Amino acid sequence: MAKPKLQVPVEKNQYIELDITGLGHEGEGVGKYEGFTVFIPRALPGERVKAKVIRVQKTYANGRLIEVLSDTASRTEPPCPIFHRCGGCHLQHMTYEAQLKHKRQTVVDALTRIGKLEGVTVHETLGMDNPWQYRNKAQVPIGEIDGRLAVGFYAPRTHEIIEMQSCDIQHAYNDQIVHTTKAILQELAIPHYEEASGRGLVRHIIGRAGFHTGETMLVLVTNGRKIPHQEVLIDRLRARIPHLVSIVQNINREQTNVIFGNETRTLWGKDTITDTIGEIRFEISAGSFFQVNPVQTEVLYGKALEYANLSGSETVIDAYCGIGTISLFLAQKAKEVYGVEIVPEAIEDAQKNAALNEIRNAHFAVGEAETVIPQWHRDGVRADVLVVDPPRKGCDERLLATIAEMQPERVVYVSCNPGTLARDLRYLEDHGYKTVEVTPVDMFPHTFHVECVAWLVRKDN
Ligand code: SAH
Repeated sequence: MAKPKLQVPVEKNQYIELDITGLGHEGEGVGKYEGFTVFIPRALPGERVKAKVIRVQKTYANGRLIEVLSDTASRTEPPCPIFHRCGGCHLQHMTYEAQLKHKRQTVVDALTRIGKLEGVTVHETLGMDNPWQYRNKAQVPIGEIDGRLAVGFYAPRTHEIIEMQSCDIQHAYNDQIVHTTKAILQELAIPHYEEASGRGLVRHIIGRAGFHTGETMLVLVTNGRKIPHQEVLIDRLRARIPHLVSIVQNINREQTNVIFGNETRTLWGKDTITDTIGEIRFEISAGSFFQVNPVQTEVLYGKALEYANLSGSETVIDAYCGIGTISLFLAQKAKEVYGVEIVPEAIEDAQKNAALNEIRNAHFAVGEAETVIPQWHRDGVRADVLVVDPPRKGCDERLLATIAEMQPERVVYVSCNPGTLARDLRYLEDHGYKTVEVTPVDMFPHTFHVECVAWLVRKDN
């Protein structure tokens, strides 16, 4: 028998009232109107709201928040004046305490609904004492509004620049880099790039800051090599941004959303800036990946280290190792660490950083974790602890199958997506492992991103 068709009780432009019961993946409020799901950005769980329906799909509708009819204690005034238009943050209208609770609940829900896991301790989210100015990298498009240069992030799902004067989640140095650079480009009439025509020059202003060293880098992404008034530009930048140690140009002539092009050259100063995570020093070049919240990275890796429970005699595999941040962190307490990562440049950085820190017990390989680790297994590598930190889509099943065969004592799973984490923990639960506990760590305050670290042990232990 065919399923009865879902009645759609709303139509476009209709005004409705409903109770918000949860938050969706992008931090938008979710509620039911006569049993039909409606997503309403900026509405919060616990609120009754009035909304205008702006789009109706087969199984859900999208609405615009018109009025909050009954308030909740979670609501707060967003400090940023452009919060409602800029796509950078999603939860500034929620108190920080409520954000942390919500992130923990997201993990709990995923583990129970998707993972069907029971008896897992999910700790409170480890948040920041000061959840502002936490980002060490600002990557800001530049355009024109009313005949003046303007910098700002895009409105959600558009390429419309929402002009900003400062960004509350950026390190103050990056704010200074972005706005002073814009002002100097304006003074020298250096043109900005126009997406529509592919003409013009400056596409993005990128600021990177070393929190512990105070060193900063400016990267100008340009649609061509020659920069008019280059010498004057550099003189003014150096004079007005005293913390700069590096000015780099990246050339991207493609008509694309990808920010970086293939050619990078240093215009002035060093090629890299230095920063530290714990005791480990990292050289960061214009294109290198580096965790954007260095304060919380230390908290996250501290948890991973605690769960790895190393005594100094262990062999550790770090899958999806990036530039080797976790590998180098763990190498201080392990016998050997083997890192594997798919991007060759990241592995070059990992090797350089190992050498810089005189760490000799960390080894790195380029390749897919799901291909390289089975090969290591066949070659007789035995891991006591296996750490994974996959991208949002989670681990490849071949890797999970290899973990089940390799039988490391402990698995530490660092995840940026509770849904795929829960799916993968279920697989491991069915193949000899038990998830003991999970700790969410707030890496991106005021955004919807949820990061956490899980600790698994073998059931036969
Ligand atoms: N652990 C690192 C980075 C984790 S981000 C850190 O903390 O800095 C996830 C990484 O997985 C990215 O660097 C990405 O390039 C890499 N990756 C994606 N798919 C992969 C695969 N199949 N095998 C190995 N690495 C992969």
